[in-house]
Amino acid sequence: MVTVTAQPSEAPHVVVLGGGLAGVACAHRLGDEGIRVTLVDRNDYHQFQPLLYQVATSQLPAQDIARPHRTIFRAHPTVEVRSVEVTSVDPQAPSLTLVDGDVLTGTHLVMAAGGRAEYFGVPGADEHAFPLYSVSDAERLRLHFRQLLDDAGDDQEALESALDVVVVGGGPTGVEVAGALAELTRALATLGEIPRPGRILLVDRGKVLLGGFSEKSHEYAHRRLTKEGAELQLGTGVSAVYADRVELDDGSVVPTRTVVWGGGESAATIVAESGLPTGRGGRVQVTPELTVEGHPRVYAVGDVANIPSDEDPGVLPQLGSVAQQSGRWAADNILRELTGQPAVPFRYKDKGIMAMIGRNAAVAEVGKHRHQVEGPVAFAAWLGVHAMLLSGAHSKTDAFLSWAWDYFDRDHAAVVESSTTEAPHRIAWGDDEADVPHISTERRG
Ligand SMILES: Cc1cc2nc3c(=O)[nH]c(=O)nc-3n(C[C@H](O)[C@H](O)[C@H](O)COP(=O)(O)OP(=O)(O)OC[C@H]3O[C@@H](n4cnc5c(N)ncnc54)[C@H](O)[C@@H]3O)c2cc1C
Repeated sequence: MVTVTAQPSEAPHVVVLGGGLAGVACAHRLGDEGIRVTLVDRNDYHQFQPLLYQVATSQLPAQDIARPHRTIFRAHPTVEVRSVEVTSVDPQAPSLTLVDGDVLTGTHLVMAAGGRAEYFGVPGADEHAFPLYSVSDAERLRLHFRQLLDDAGDDQEALESALDVVVVGGGPTGVEVAGALAELTRALATLGEIPRPGRILLVDRGKVLLGGFSEKSHEYAHRRLTKEGAELQLGTGVSAVYADRVELDDGSVVPTRTVVWGGGESAATIVAESGLPTGRGGRVQVTPELTVEGHPRVYAVGDVANIPSDEDPGVLPQLGSVAQQSGRWAADNILRELTGQPAVPFRYKDKGIMAMIGRNAAVAEVGKHRHQVEGPVAFAAWLGVHAMLLSGAHSKTDAFLSWAWDYFDRDHAAVVESSTTEAPHRIAWGDDEADVPHISTERRG
């Protein structure tokens, strides 16, 4: 427990906007020290984004990657959770206005509101494409696939193209989704559920997959995805999205009822009207100490912030480990202030970059010199990093580890067969039965 020596005129009260990896890490650290925290999130649960595509492709139930905030903070009596939409931010006060009209004022404010899909003004994308940023997005996509199959019924012609998908974006999200969909539809075809595997077309304006990775990883991702049966159209953008087709900027038209958008992200909508200084991706510009210029008691962390870095492109990427570490660092700087010490610039411990491309296929680049590994070794690296991320919100990561090895190793057709007749394979968290997240499929924020 820290001894507070600094002189905010009132007792410290940190208001945290967002209960993702960054907000939870921040509130945890402050709660450990007995500091009063109010954490506000529109959802009553924390969502683990790296496994969203598993929910969208029916390989995990949504509840397994959504843990109620109240459960997470059960052992932290000074952390209060409010499950409500925030409608505005006043960095001066600092305070948040909630949709129910309440105004929450703190001595400190931590903005950890994350990001959202960025459609770059592509006509029809907002209306027709499926983003994959939240558990609600993933559930909506899963239900959409089920609806397409239900609508097709026994009509073989309709079934044939029901699961043809265009995936926009060749970054980790697009590659992971395309890999999982190619596997899933191939398994469904093997089982006779559909006449042929879905046509999974991945489109990206860039010339390579996994742009931020090395050339070896670009080639690996290319090889693995095409081996799974996905088609790639690189160097091509999407110019319009409709309910039944997409138009590409080379003039071609691809019939599809499903466009999955992994084509970019920007800061959560709340930032635009907050009056906070923004930069690339509409994200909040922060100092090396993670505060907002001119507002020493307002912090921005995780995906909502542009966190300075010495490496190209000058800011840290939108990654789980950046979010978790920056959230904890902001808490530490608040604790330093409260004990009369100066804030310290954020030092990111780089855990590497990695992507899962499907069963038995993963790529990772780790260490200072970005050593590249593929296959099971890369999967082990992925698992280690993600177990650590999950440990902030789900204390028992052994349940995740055993589920993940099983998934990685399993025969996919058998998985699909069992999930068409019974509930999908679960991560056995062993939480209290009463710990149920309230997941809605409404489109928000
Ligand atoms: C599909 C996908 C796959 C990914 N895979 C990986 C991966 O494999 N490895 C990796 O390291 N990173 C991965 N990432 C990135 C990583 O998940 C993010 O960097 C990280 O989760 C960001 O955490 P955060 O706390 O900043 O934001 P978030 O987790 O987005 O949390 C923000 C929270 O703020 C809440 N919120 C926002 N606005 C409001 C409002 N107005 N009112 C109330 N609440 C609000 C939201 O509900 C949300 O809970 C992936 C991201 C995506 C989308």
